[in-house]
Amino acid sequence: MKPDLIKTILIIVAAIALGWTLDMAAEFGLIAAIICNIWLLFRAKRLHNWFTNVKELPHAEQGVFYLLHRDIKAMREKHHAKKRELQHNLKRVREASAALPDAIVITDDNGEITWSNRLAAELLNIRQPRDNGHRVNNLLRHPSFTEAYAKHDDVPVNIDIEAPFNRNISLNLKVIDLAENMQMLVARDITRHVDVTRAQKDFVSNVSHELKTPLTVMRGYLEMIEDGQQCDPSIHKPIKDMLLQTKRMQSTIDDLLYLAKLESKQQNRGSDDIDVEFSQININHILEMIMDSALMLAEQNEQTITMEINNQMSINGNESELQIAFSNLLTNAIRYTPKGGEIHIKWHHRDKTAVFSVTDSGIGIAPKHISRLTERFYRVDQGRSRAKGGTGLGLAIVKHVLERHKAELNISSSLGNGSCFECIFPLEL
Ligand code: ADP
Repeated sequence: MKPDLIKTILIIVAAIALGWTLDMAAEFGLIAAIICNIWLLFRAKRLHNWFTNVKELPHAEQGVFYLLHRDIKAMREKHHAKKRELQHNLKRVREASAALPDAIVITDDNGEITWSNRLAAELLNIRQPRDNGHRVNNLLRHPSFTEAYAKHDDVPVNIDIEAPFNRNISLNLKVIDLAENMQMLVARDITRHVDVTRAQKDFVSNVSHELKTPLTVMRGYLEMIEDGQQCDPSIHKPIKDMLLQTKRMQSTIDDLLYLAKLESKQQNRGSDDIDVEFSQININHILEMIMDSALMLAEQNEQTITMEINNQMSINGNESELQIAFSNLLTNAIRYTPKGGEIHIKWHHRDKTAVFSVTDSGIGIAPKHISRLTERFYRVDQGRSRAKGGTGLGLAIVKHVLERHKAELNISSSLGNGSCFECIFPLEL
């Protein structure tokens, strides 16, 4: 800075001195100042050109411009090194993503594709660079994905679908937020897993079918023997036990077959289809169908059942499925509530939902069990469930029925104080 200032002052002083001899000191001084200023502007412009990469680095000299050149050059070199490092890292990330066994599609916050890996072309038919800039939900046309993607700000996308371009491939799709304006769609090929699960389910369903007829025959004969007067009294008890076990096996098989039926209905239903078995349901009709036997059981257990029903509210649903689901919840409440307990049934409006709830003052459930209750054959207490005639499949059926109605099951319970099972139906169906 100093040399520049001294140089400028010297030039102006020299010009004034020269002007003095000609009696034009002020004019010469002014002209010298203007020339110095223009020279300064010219050097600033050269610096700008260099900075914007038009020109090479101007002649290095001393003074403020020398310092500016030096510092900017150092900054630029640092910036280039950082850029090279970033490019190198990005290349490695892309190489790693390309080698991943999943399809990856990166989008901005408008859902427009900015990058995709090799497997995305194979599994999703999304190609680089052809599809960059296109919206992912325009290219990936599947009703379930479209629906889930529209809500992905509130509910993370995690769905299983058939690949839109090859129905033999099953995919799991997840959308993960990477940064504020960057998302990653991950598609995993789960065909093998789906095939194995389907084979297992088919096996259980086939075995259940095969056992149904022999069990009916066995039960028929056992009932005949039990009713017959001529049988030896010593075998009365074994016959009774055999009959009880046969009835239990029949209930389990009936529940397994019902679950298989629900699953196959769900599989064959696209999310846009309107199920032909769905209609406007009448809650009073459903309650009429289930209350007779429930009241009888409750009476035996000296329990009281109360009801609070909003008759104005109805939903679109499958009446026989809802009847079974609600009946399972009510039977459980009776089963797991001791003598003298209370059970309350409620059908009411909450926010944009219709809620069917069964609350009991029963034995309650410890928190660690709650998330697993809808698994097949999951019981908190095996002995108690069996003794009460449970199959361990009741809540799995409830869950499947509710899934078909796009409804949710909410369980709240406190050990020793009772439980509340809520079926929450969206009212916009
Ligand atoms: P189960 O036929 O054994 O009742 P479910 O699938 O209907 O089978 O229920 C699973 C388990 O959840 C039951 O075995 C029981 O331990 C628990 N459970 C269900 N409902 C209740 C309830 N109202 N109170 C306490 N425990 C319950």
